[in-house]
Amino acid sequence: MESLETIAAEIRVCTACGLCESRMQAVPGSGPADARLVFVGEAPGAQEDAQGVPFVGRAGKLLDRLLADVGLDRAQVYIANGIKCRPPDNRPPRKGEIAACRPFLDRQLAVIQPRLVVTLGRFSLSQFCPGVRISDVHGRLQRVDGLAVYPVFHPAAAFRRVAWREALATDLARVPDILERF
Ligand code: URA
Repeated sequence: MESLETIAAEIRVCTACGLCESRMQAVPGSGPADARLVFVGEAPGAQEDAQGVPFVGRAGKLLDRLLADVGLDRAQVYIANGIKCRPPDNRPPRKGEIAACRPFLDRQLAVIQPRLVVTLGRFSLSQFCPGVRISDVHGRLQRVDGLAVYPVFHPAAAFRRVAWREALATDLARVPDILERF
C-alpha cells in the first residue's frame, strides 16, 4: 500500500496540466493518514499556493473556527482539494485540469479510507455527485460507490451570503453525530 507522503511527493512535481506553470507550489493536503474524516475543497488560493498547505487563508480560518465550534480539531482531520494547484486568478478549474488531478484525490482516499468525506462547495460536490445541486443536498448524507459523502457549502461562500454561512454552521454541527453512526 502506498503512503500519503509518496502521493504528496508526486503531486509536488506534477506536470500533468498547465497549472504547474503558474503555481508557486502544489498543495497536496494535510492531516493524518488515519483520519476518520476528510474535507475536500476546490483548489488552493493565493495563501495556500504560497504556503503549500490547504485552507490557510480567510476561508480556512473560518473553517478552523467552525470545526472548533463543533468540537473537531483540524489536526485530527485530513484536508485536501480536488485540484492541487492554484488556477491563475482563482478562476474555476478546467475539464482537463480536473481530469489530470482526479487520480491524486482517489489515491489519497484509498490510503485514508475515511468514514466520511465532507465536500466543501459545489465544485467538490460535483466531483462525487455530478449534476447534483448543492442547494438541494447540503446537509444530507449521500452514498457514492460505498463512500459516505456529506455536502456542505464552501466557507468562502459563507462570506457572500449570511444564509450560506448559517447553513454551513448548521450542517457542520451534525458531523460529529454522523461520524458516531459509522
Ligand atoms: N479554497 C479551497 O477550496 N481550498 C483551499 O485550500 C483554500 C480555499
